[in-house]
Amino acid sequence: MTCKGCLGSVIVSDEVIQELLIEADEDPSLLVTNEIYDSRLKECGSCHALQYGTTCRYGGFIVYYQAKFKHKSCPNPEKIKWGKIDY
Ligand code: SF4
Repeated sequence: MTCKGCLGSVIVSDEVIQELLIEADEDPSLLVTNEIYDSRLKECGSCHALQYGTTCRYGGFIVYYQAKFKHKSCPNPEKIKWGKIDY
């Protein structure tokens, strides 16, 4: 499936997600704990805004990557499902 705007694929492979996660792990001080990461992904997994199993409709980002970072938050305009972490 392609994006109408850019003709790029909107389906993100597991390989691409793994590469992003390896990139994210380069600075662990920016990352949430595994528990928080799993809890964020659980929220995304049951959210109507999750598209193609990977992408947030509101933020346009890959949730598996975005949920790793302390300073990121859920952009759901109806109800924020996970927020920034300050520590
Ligand atoms: S709206 Fe929030 S909970 Fe839903 S997919 Fe996006 S980031 Fe995840």
